[in-house]
Amino acid sequence: MAVKVAQEWFAICGGCEVTILDVGEPLIDLLAELEFVHMPVIMDHKLYGQTGEESKADIPEADVGILTGSIRNEENKELAELMRSRVNFLISMGSCACYGGVPALANQFAVDEIYQRVYQGNSTTDPGETPAEGLPALLDRVYAVHEVVDVDLMLPGCPTTPDMFVAAVMHLLKGTPFALETKSVCDQCPTIREQKTGEGITLKRPLESVEGVGEALETVRCFMEQGYLCQGPATRAGCGGMDGGTPRCIRAYMPCRGCFGPLTDQANPMVDMMGAISTIGLNPRDIPDRAAQFNRFAGSGRLRTKRR
Ligand code: SF4
Ligand code: SF4
Ligand code: SF4
Repeated sequence: MAVKVAQEWFAICGGCEVTILDVGEPLIDLLAELEFVHMPVIMDHKLYGQTGEESKADIPEADVGILTGSIRNEENKELAELMRSRVNFLISMGSCACYGGVPALANQFAVDEIYQRVYQGNSTTDPGETPAEGLPALLDRVYAVHEVVDVDLMLPGCPTTPDMFVAAVMHLLKGTPFALETKSVCDQCPTIREQKTGEGITLKRPLESVEGVGEALETVRCFMEQGYLCQGPATRAGCGGMDGGTPRCIRAYMPCRGCFGPLTDQANPMVDMMGAISTIGLNPRDIPDRAAQFNRFAGSGRLRTKRR
């Protein structure tokens, strides 16, 4: 009998849903074993009845629930709780769901500041009233899914990788082992760390090409030692594939942006990165907006405005 799957999305870009499509041909075989009973991105199954006749949202019962996106407003919270009550096993998919992701950058600002900026203080918008009716209220901050409901499996990444999604599905269908990496992106990066401190290293923007583009990565100097803000030291590995391959961005000669999130629940990527940057002789204080820069994907519990 097919495994029933329900999926719902919150504060997101939709990239994690594209990851499912990016599975490619193996998805055809998987679809024979999965029955999607609710998934807004691919099917016209409504929350409030097919014609909006219901006053309360409903999600069909399923064996597995998948939630993408972070929890920003009352409706997201209610749907997360509803999904939890309807499924046996809940997956949070993507770094928005696992850590708050990019939407949680908003946690640097109080809700009234956000409303003020969007509806009154934006230079490209005519000042207007903050809409109050017919819209779910914002929560006090952006939350990761597990901060609101219990989660059974987290698939980090912005977006998560297709093979991690497949590995999670196979874990559910066949009981094959599944575990997140405990290593860092640096641990799976083949570039050369000369471990010389500082002389002559200047901070570079990621739009400037690293030295050695196109050459074998084993012969290229570590991007951070070249002066780029590569977040590999403070980021969980896994983006290179479940078999521990070279991290995704490093393969493309780009510094890691930290999208797989922190190495542990307690880790603070900003603190870890400031330490790593100091060891190559750069002054962390020269990095603008460093709290947001280094917690770009992990801000649900780590970026807090003092005014909230
Ligand atoms: S984790 Fe990234 S790709 Fe996935 S929904 Fe969030 S922003 Fe989009
Ligand atoms: S800092 Fe970046 S380039 Fe250097 S070893 Fe770590 S992941 Fe590789
Ligand atoms: S290298 Fe870093 S930013 Fe790039 S996919 Fe991997 S974890 Fe994400």
